Amino acid sequence: MNATAQLVERVKPDKKQDQELAINSANPLDLPAETFQAGLDRRRKNRAALMSWVREALVEGSDFGKIHVVSRHKCQAGKYCKNPAHFSKPSLFKPGAEKICGMLGVTINYPTLVEYEKAALAGTVLSQIILRCEIIDASGHVVAGGIGARILSQDNGDINKALNDLESGRVFRPLIVMEHDDE
Ligand SMILES: [Zn+2]
Repeated sequence: MNATAQLVERVKPDKKQDQELAINSANPLDLPAETFQAGLDRRRKNRAALMSWVREALVEGSDFGKIHVVSRHKCQAGKYCKNPAHFSKPSLFKPGAEKICGMLGVTINYPTLVEYEKAALAGTVLSQIILRCEIIDASGHVVAGGIGARILSQDNGDINKALNDLESGRVFRPLIVMEHDDE
């Protein structure tokens, strides 16, 4: 397969997604104006209610917090570091994401995770992991999704650590996307 053919192969699924998105997002604009307005008002109120619940329910340090992002070579203090410039913006942690998912009645799914179990059982040597994450509503529809990659050498070849870090990270972006959908 030449480079152009490969490029076309990669572009194809995205194009399909774009078309689906265009079809889905065109529908609400065809609604009667009052129905559309009522839908927007309801979403704004529900979002405000959700955000105030999030502020009350989430505990700093366990559900969310700042992460020491400077490498061990530059700063060994880790989470005990006193330099605020070494920390990320407040990030949602896995327990916080799970609380929000529980509240919204959605579940988290990693559809490709089973492939890594198979690879591990087969003794396949992996150099990187790409993990897809989906947020599923009560009726089984995917309401948000994300994808993340991690090179195993970042985790000294520890596949468990890489998967765990990915799972933690992957949950949040779709959650943030889903919340911002309501804006
Ligand atoms: Zn530091």
